[in-house]
Amino acid sequence: MKQPGQEEDRAEHTGPPKEWAAGIPGVAVAMELSLRQMGPARTARTLLRLNQVHGFDCPGCAWPDPQDRAVAEFCENGAKAVAEEATTARADPTFFARHSLADLAERTDHWLGKTGRITHPMHLAPGASHYAPITWEAAFALIAEELHALETPDGAIFYTSGRTSNEAAFAYQLFARALGTNNLPDCSNMCHEASGAALTEVIGIGKGSVSLEDVEQADTILVVGQNPGTNHPRMLTALETAKRAGARIVAVNPLPEAGLMRFKNPQKPSGVVGRGTPLADLFLQVRVNGDLPLFKALNKRLLDAERGAPGTVFDRAFLEEQCVGLPELEAELDALDWPAVEAASGLTRAEIDQARDLIAGGERVIVCWAMGLTQHKNSVATIREIANTLLLTGNIGKPGAGVCPVRGHSNVQGDRTMGIWEQMDDAFLDRLRDVFGFEPPREHGHDTVAAIRAMRDGTAHVFVGMGGNFATATPDTEAVFAALQRTRLTVQVSTKLNRSHVVTGEQALILPCLGRTERDEQAGGEQVVTVEDSMMDVHASRGRLAPASPHLKSETAIVCGLARAALAPVDGLRWQAWEDDYSMLRDRIAEVVPGFEDFNARIEQPGGFTLPHPPRDTRTFATPDQKAHLSVNPLTSVAVPPGRLLLQTLRSHDQYNTTIYALNDRYRGIKAGRRVVMVAPEDLAALGHADGDVVDLVGEHDGVERRCERFRVVSYPTARGCAAAYYPETNALVPLDSVGEGSGTPTSKSIVIRLEPHAER
Ligand code: SF4
Repeated sequence: MKQPGQEEDRAEHTGPPKEWAAGIPGVAVAMELSLRQMGPARTARTLLRLNQVHGFDCPGCAWPDPQDRAVAEFCENGAKAVAEEATTARADPTFFARHSLADLAERTDHWLGKTGRITHPMHLAPGASHYAPITWEAAFALIAEELHALETPDGAIFYTSGRTSNEAAFAYQLFARALGTNNLPDCSNMCHEASGAALTEVIGIGKGSVSLEDVEQADTILVVGQNPGTNHPRMLTALETAKRAGARIVAVNPLPEAGLMRFKNPQKPSGVVGRGTPLADLFLQVRVNGDLPLFKALNKRLLDAERGAPGTVFDRAFLEEQCVGLPELEAELDALDWPAVEAASGLTRAEIDQARDLIAGGERVIVCWAMGLTQHKNSVATIREIANTLLLTGNIGKPGAGVCPVRGHSNVQGDRTMGIWEQMDDAFLDRLRDVFGFEPPREHGHDTVAAIRAMRDGTAHVFVGMGGNFATATPDTEAVFAALQRTRLTVQVSTKLNRSHVVTGEQALILPCLGRTERDEQAGGEQVVTVEDSMMDVHASRGRLAPASPHLKSETAIVCGLARAALAPVDGLRWQAWEDDYSMLRDRIAEVVPGFEDFNARIEQPGGFTLPHPPRDTRTFATPDQKAHLSVNPLTSVAVPPGRLLLQTLRSHDQYNTTIYALNDRYRGIKAGRRVVMVAPEDLAALGHADGDVVDLVGEHDGVERRCERFRVVSYPTARGCAAAYYPETNALVPLDSVGEGSGTPTSKSIVIRLEPHAER
């Protein structure tokens, strides 16, 4: 698949990966990008309100805010995320008049993202070459007309990206369900779906069980399949605090990421002039998709240690009283095939025993993870096995211990809590019926992959994207482009341009919305919105900047406006009142969503409130039998034929999801380009390639090949047999039909590829 800008990409390999993260360079890069986008005064005004109690929540990741906020309570990548949104650049109607769709289609994602904030609702009429301005009323009427033309409400797809506020998300799901569909796919389908599925099964709730304070109090922290230095940078501050209190950290990753090794905290002298704080005490360079065998082996070795000294490793009382499944698990572990485990994990028994000793010696153990664990076929099994480790040792439901899936999008967890899911349970749907007086659909809707198939197969004709960049955040890019282009209408609620505005249905709409940084004035006065972070803290976010254009609407106002245009009036659905005053919508949320009682009052408290989590709060488990479940997870891993590599797609340090801040990845020694593939020197020698070669990446799946052209080979200390390259470029290699068992998540972290010399054409 030819991709825009592939010929011009001039990536350079500047040297070995860095061994520390942040420091003064982090501040310098953040300031340079912020000043370029916002100018000095706006930079100061904006960044000093970021993550502050009466300020706005960072639109980046979902790492929680500490009780005591620093003056600069943000990281390098948080500053970049805000600078992208608060940029003074504008994409106004004159911009769209200058750039036809065909022209925009030839531009790189980086170029599209730098064109600035979209200022007016824009319409691409059927057969038109350019977007043209449209009024909000006409836009809502057009969408309503297309929705009414559908044979069934299931002919529409309502996608949500994780930046959407709780209020907008709740209104959005209510609108879709009042229309008659559960087609509510979201970016969670592509990220932590496996975490939710596994944890719900094992402990009765699909969310992490630790607070920020727990991380700081833990004495043993495993960071698995996560690159916090780039994707959750303020986590390094919490790890530093834990380290300084004596904690031991185990990093498990195919790549020696700088943010796992050492942290130079720019808010501390040691981080400015000193060597900073060493993080990982043990680095396990696991093979891609080697985490399940690793944790099975760890549990086996913990069992061996327990048998050697009964009661010193396992929390026997907890296991007997509150857990089920121990005998079956012990039998499974006793049958463990060590050679298979070592081969699949890429680790030796000695290395595994080092980690075992740290866990067995710990009183308060936390396991943190992210996409490196969740985007595989066997991710649900892997996360269940991690839960086994913590349950066996009693590290669930006590201070300083527990499970910690770290969310990568500021409100992705909140959106799910608000009902953005294609398979909400009957209890939730019953409450919608009782509170709003309509019968919601009960049949489960499409998740992200099913939504793509429905558009591809011509059963879905209208796509609405609430934020995000569906066209390239999803797998199998060529298939997704064709699917979107087969629809009658694509609608994108966005702040800035991206590929999804260029890959359109027969006609398309861009509905420009307010950003998180901007004041949200409605008839009822200035509004606040709320978000939920990875640790279930719900707090208010108050935009402070003047909107980028007077023609913008908030996400919530867009949903309410569309609902008034498309739905017949229902007494319980008070769209105008909710648009005018979000607190009235929150009163309804409090009636429907458990844990949100007194919602409006509690978000007035500094820092908001924390939602209930039975395992964390009372060591109780809302599973059918009120027990925590140990599980047996057969050993699986991806088989890689000779001469092939197992590719993981990942972010560069100058990227957030599909938003490209800049073309550098300084922690990994790469600059001025993105079309690189990182491979171990020993594998390059074996494959007959060398650093600097230009190759095509050819994905092989079920006899079907997918090709991404023109990548520069980078000799890199990755685990043997593995490779790494950036998405969205390499999402084109991820097969649509290759998804996680029990999650439906595309397997973006384990793609079998071969390298082929690139033939210039
Ligand atoms: S750690 Fe995440 S939430 Fe915090 S400032 Fe950085 S990107 Fe934003």
